[in-house]
Amino acid sequence: MLILHCPCCGVDAEETELHAGGEAHIKRFGPGSDDDQFHDYLFMRENPKGVHFERWQHANGCGKWFHAARCTATLEVFGTYRAQTTEPPKDIRDAITAKRPGWVWREFS
Ligand SMILES: [Zn+2]
Repeated sequence: MLILHCPCCGVDAEETELHAGGEAHIKRFGPGSDDDQFHDYLFMRENPKGVHFERWQHANGCGKWFHAARCTATLEVFGTYRAQTTEPPKDIRDAITAKRPGWVWREFS
């Protein structure tokens, strides 16, 4: 079972208390964007076998949204952090690099 630490209320929440919200750190485009950018925003998602950043809601707890870094293949959780964070914190990126040498994704390398 997936257990994620909610950084908002401090509870280690089981999967049944959580609601998945899809990929984290999606770049949103404003009114001046073109059709390709809007298409990518709506439909294009990462689907890696490995390290992934996701949005989760502590739905049956505090109700707040947060981000989680985990491995989709092993369900190993590298860390969770507040949803207002625009990129993964350095300590989480370092934890991922320690366990997955050579890991690179987007601008967080
Ligand atoms: Zn919570």
